[in-house]
Amino acid sequence: MTSDSATTEGAMVAQYDAVIVGAGFGGMGAAIQLARLGHTNLLILEREDDLGGTWHVNRYPGLAVDIPSSTYSYSFEPNPYWSRLFAPGPELKRYAEHVADKYGLRKWMRFGAVVTGAVWERTHWRVTLYSGESFTSTYLVTATGFLSQPKMPEIDGIDGFRGKVIHTTAWDDDYDLTGKRAAVIGTGATAVQLIPEVAKVVSELTVYQRTPIWVSPKPDYVVPRRLQAAFAALPFAQRVVRLTGSAILELLMITGVVHYKNFRLGNRIAERWCRAHLRRQVRDPGLRRKLTPDYSFGCKRPTFSNDYFRTFTRPHVKLETTGIARIEDNAIITAAGGRTEIDVLLLATGFNLWDVNFPAIEIIGRDGRDLGKWWRENRFQAYEGVTVPGFPNLLSLNSPYAYSGLSYFTTIECQMKHIDRLFTAMRRRGSRVFEVTQRANDEFLDRMTDKVGDSVFALGQCATANSYYFNQHGEATLLRPTSTIAAHREAVRFPLSDYTYA
Ligand code: NAP
Repeated sequence: MTSDSATTEGAMVAQYDAVIVGAGFGGMGAAIQLARLGHTNLLILEREDDLGGTWHVNRYPGLAVDIPSSTYSYSFEPNPYWSRLFAPGPELKRYAEHVADKYGLRKWMRFGAVVTGAVWERTHWRVTLYSGESFTSTYLVTATGFLSQPKMPEIDGIDGFRGKVIHTTAWDDDYDLTGKRAAVIGTGATAVQLIPEVAKVVSELTVYQRTPIWVSPKPDYVVPRRLQAAFAALPFAQRVVRLTGSAILELLMITGVVHYKNFRLGNRIAERWCRAHLRRQVRDPGLRRKLTPDYSFGCKRPTFSNDYFRTFTRPHVKLETTGIARIEDNAIITAAGGRTEIDVLLLATGFNLWDVNFPAIEIIGRDGRDLGKWWRENRFQAYEGVTVPGFPNLLSLNSPYAYSGLSYFTTIECQMKHIDRLFTAMRRRGSRVFEVTQRANDEFLDRMTDKVGDSVFALGQCATANSYYFNQHGEATLLRPTSTIAAHREAVRFPLSDYTYA
């Protein structure tokens, strides 16, 4: 079914000011910004059955934010009631609901709406759903997330496994792990949270590790109710806490990743800090060796945990570092022929970014340019991580070089500022169509490529990291290699001549 756009005096008028794909924090931030700019005829399409993105989809045991919560939230909507310094997942979901209610976003949301693609039709976008229904809108905002397409491992025999298989993004709340023989595949940030919780209830746990992860202690504390009340009464106090958290993260990002060339020592210190943490928790040198990464700190997303390493010292937990050869009826067989019988297979195998998520839907721009194809044939790129030449009126929030800093909210708020400046410029010109110029895009790409050259991605030892920061061509095109201060400054000061307005 196609809902036709209205027409006035022969001119096409799109049904919506903007269609936003994704009702996570990125999509909600964009909606708040567009509404502030007077665009209130919005449609937010979400494939899940509720809002919150990652924090709606992920429900695995141990789920928590691993960036301090006062920083991992919108600066304009502080939450004084986080129960811990690193809040558990359900609190993030409640925070998302609170934001949606307070800013009146729910009325624009439509759930279970799987978008398959969008096509630029000279003056507007046509967005099509899996059901065949389509909508027209002046602007298209894709806010589909960076980590939203689960990666299922291709292991021989996995489809014939007779036990239960659960990916961390599709947790089965009704399945009771108690007393089961379990296996976890993966040792990324998700597994680090999951493994200690699973180990508490299962009878046997085998963890299949391909690449170890740098883990540092987690300075996680309960925020007492009195302090929460103080934050509610004195918002300034919470702003100070946020600022402190953000400053620490910024320092880590600048020294550990962006300016690795000048601050290698910072990485070495971080590695030592993690090794000391491991030494404190694991006495067995053989086990420690297996848990120690051989790539530089920062090549791959490090994480925090106070009980991850210790879990491997429990008698019923085993770390398996030999590769998996295949899965048979109810067992995992390693390349060395080792056989482990299990009841449940837990996949903490992460996400596929570069094959299927850039972009997450088919986007056809001006002159039939296919964004996914164009990125793959011409390098992954996006001006300021948000707009692409050949794609008028598209704000692609999960683009190459978009991710700025360590908290996703830094990225979101930077993009909100960019939208503000761009749309204000359009209003002044009486224009409704923008497109970034090829020149501005090329200069930005050159600058980012240069800057990556100073980062840990180019100068560190990243070859064995298997990091999703790198795309399939070996380029580190996910993180923006500048300080977040520089990113914010550019978002409010980029030359308006970097766009054409029609
Ligand atoms: P991930 O970091 O990509 O880790 C996936 C793990 O699965 C890796 O250890 C990977 O090994 C392994 N793996 C994948 N396919 C495999 C296969 N076929 N055989 C064996 N092992 C396989 O994914 P994630 O742990 O879900 O974390 C993703 C990101 O989510 C994190 O980096 C973080 O940004 C975010 N996260 C955030 C929070 C939070 O609190 N904010 C919590 C959890 C996650 P290789 O490394 O060898 O590929």
